[in-house]
This record gives sequence, structure tokens and C-alpha cells, in this order.
Amino acid sequence: MKYEATIGLETHVQLKTKTKMFCGCLLETGDEPNTNVCPVCMGYPGALPVMNRQAVKFTVMAGMALGCEISRRSNFDRKNYFYPDMAKDYQISQNGAPLCIGGGVEIVRADGSRKFVRINHIHLEEDAAKINHYARHSGVDFNRGGTPLMEIVGEPDLSSADETIAYLEALKELLVYVGVSDCNLEEGNMRSDVNISVRPEGQEALGTKVEIKNMNTFKGIHAAIEYEVARQIDLVSRGGAVVQETRRWDGEGGETQSMRNKENAHDYRYFPEPDLVPVELDEATLAEWRAEVPELPRARRARMVAEYGIPEYDAEVISADKACADFFEAAAKAAAPVAGKTVSNWFMTEVLRLVGESGRGIGECALTPGAFASLLALLGAGTINGPTAKELLPELFEKGGDPKAIVEARGLGQASAGSALQALVDQAIAANPKSVADFKAGKKAAAGFFVGQVMKASKGKADPKVVGRLVAETLAKM
Ligand SMILES: [Zn+2]
Repeated sequence: MKYEATIGLETHVQLKTKTKMFCGCLLETGDEPNTNVCPVCMGYPGALPVMNRQAVKFTVMAGMALGCEISRRSNFDRKNYFYPDMAKDYQISQNGAPLCIGGGVEIVRADGSRKFVRINHIHLEEDAAKINHYARHSGVDFNRGGTPLMEIVGEPDLSSADETIAYLEALKELLVYVGVSDCNLEEGNMRSDVNISVRPEGQEALGTKVEIKNMNTFKGIHAAIEYEVARQIDLVSRGGAVVQETRRWDGEGGETQSMRNKENAHDYRYFPEPDLVPVELDEATLAEWRAEVPELPRARRARMVAEYGIPEYDAEVISADKACADFFEAAAKAAAPVAGKTVSNWFMTEVLRLVGESGRGIGECALTPGAFASLLALLGAGTINGPTAKELLPELFEKGGDPKAIVEARGLGQASAGSALQALVDQAIAANPKSVADFKAGKKAAAGFFVGQVMKASKGKADPKVVGRLVAETLAKM
């Protein structure tokens, strides 16, 4: 019998707010433990939460980008549980009435086909504190406690590890684009609980699911799904039954291990949070927030192809990062009438190479879109040649500056026109009467010798094509 896997994700995304979800404590990573804390985020009795407007706004903007329906009225609930990472013994979350409902994201499979992965809802909640384990004791760091988390609950529409990673990459791209999260995986900005079940192919009812908790690397998620799907298929095909449980991924051992039997929602005794009012969103606020959602990657790629006449592949590469796409567009506009394709060629081969080598983002380099455009305009006008432009780019990337001023100050312009180049041609001819005689005697290759002499005298700055023409014209007159 053949089996198929069903996978659904609950993805926690840390929002890029300055302060925590229900208090004014700063969100700073790397600070000394328990320095960004107050009675609210340490769960002192009687401390009252105050909602972070920015976190609500970011969640709604993410929902808009993902095509969700935005709830006009939503509210927070208490999710009760006992654990040292949550001092007040409950987490403030949204259970009954979340901020965003429905929506989804399109993924591209390895074979190029597309699939729409539905989202059930997105809710907003606070993160727990971080527990650090040492040799003889453990410590709780409340700096992370109260961090605003958006939980994107996906429908079980995924059927392989590859599709799951494509889904996470699509989510990440979109959320970074909208600017609501850095989605930095190393810092745990995006963590997923992965639900996996298997069933015989063609069977409608889903199999019993297993949840793998708190995965933050795409590599780990991929490996855990491959392992878990194989484990479950092996189990059921031998007549066994999958137990509904929570498992953890052991990256070193390369296997999932049982943690505990999965609790059901009623185990959490959800009830409405009495210390917070419901969130009511009016038309004007929603319109204002919608206006701040930027153009999304897919629409942007299509527009870039049409507007700049660049191939779809170029648009894909450039728009993978919003800062890069912004840079390219600003440069392409400033460089006109230089063709968009020329700008994208230079951007992808030269600028992105420098970005890769530097290990920094395009926004952190000294090269501005205006300077890049001006360099390409100098090239397009024939003021400088390709090798000179390539030589100048790393310097502009590191130190900045105005290409036109640099070219003028250092005399880098190719002496393509005017008397300077003609003088070099005349000098070369006057200094080599034997080669002139050879040329007149029918040795046409002698012309190439003069071109070489002139290129050398111009220190490589002359345009060889122009030199060739001048040499030919001058020799013809003799
Ligand atoms: Zn606090």
C-alpha cells in the first residue's frame, strides 16, 4: 500500500516592535539576563497589561499581505499552564476571536508547479521567558518574556518536506517584505510546530498526527519531517498505530523522540482575559494600515519586467530582497536612458557580488543608487569603458563618492574623441616609420601594431574600437 503525508504548521513569528506586547520594556537581544523587565512581564500579581498598538498593527498588516479577513473585533484570552517560563501561570493569547482569519500563500514546487497553501488564522500572543540550563542549575531570563509573537496557523495542505520549506520561505519573504519581522532564524524569530500524519493514498480521513515542537532551522524541519514520515509509514505498514503525541527533534541523533502525550485545547482552560479590552478596528484605521503594506514580491516582479524590460529571471533575483529591489529601481530610474537590462546586468553580476563578498546588506554599503546610475550613465555615454567602470565599483561600494567627479579628477575618461587621441595616433605613426612602410607594402597587420601602441600610451583608457578607426583613417591619408 502507498502512503501519503499530511503536514500542517503553526509558525510563531517575532514581531519587530521596539517594546514588549503588554509593557514598555525594550526588546533587545544580547542584554544581560533580566535587565529588560518589569512587574508586568515578570508576572507579578496585580500588574496590569497594556496592549502594544504596533504589534496589533503589524499582525493586521501581515494578515492583509496574506489575504486574510481582518476581524473588526477580536479579543485576548488566558491560556492557563504551569511552567517556570511563565511566572503568572498563564499566557495571554487569542483563542476564540483572533485578529486575522483565512488567507494563504502560494508556493512554487521544485517542478515549477504552483500550490496555494491555506492559512486558518493568525493570532497575537506574548512569548514565554527563556530557560537556560547550566551544569548544576537552570536560570530563567525574562528579557524574552512578553515578546509579541504572531502565530500563523496553517491548514494541513502540505505533503512533503520540500513543500513545507517552500511554504516557510514564502512566508519569510512576505513578512520581511512587509517589514513586520526580521524572520532571523538563528535568533529564533521564526519557530514552527510541525504537525505530521500519514494515511493510505486515496483515504479521506487524516491519520493520527504527531507534533514536533519549536523548530527554528529550515534544515532541521526538513530532516525532522523526512524522518517522521518514514517512521510513521513504517509503523502503520507493519500494523502498528501512531500515538497522538508531542515529539522533539534530536538534530545530533537525527531522530524524533517522544516528549509527552499531546494535550487538548480544553486542558488549557482558555477564558477571556479580563484585564484587556477587546480590539476594535474601524475602517479609517484599517485603510491607514493597508496603505502601509508595500507592493508584494510577486506583483513587484511582474511590474519590474514590464517597467524596465528585464527578464523574469532578473526580476526574481533582484526582488528576492526588498532592499535590493528598492536599490535597483531607484538606480534604473536615475540611469535612464540607460536600458534596464544594462542596469540589471551590472547590478546582478557586480553589485550583488560585492554584497555577497562583504557579508553586509545593500543598505549598509556606501554605494548609493544615484552613484551607481551615474557610473552606468558615464559608461553608456562612452566617457569611460567597461574595465574602468568595473575598477571603480568596489571603491564606490566601500567609500562612496561621485563617479563623475572621480573620473574627472583622475583623468579616467577614455580619450575617445577629440585631438588627444588623434595626437597619440600621430605620435605612434611618426615614431615607427618602418611599420608605416610595412603597411604600405601590404602588411595590413601593421595597423594592429599601431592600435596596440596607442592603447599602451593611453594606459588602457582609450576605446580600442575608436583607436582602430582613427589609425585606419590616418594611415589611409598617407
Ligand atoms: Zn516589562
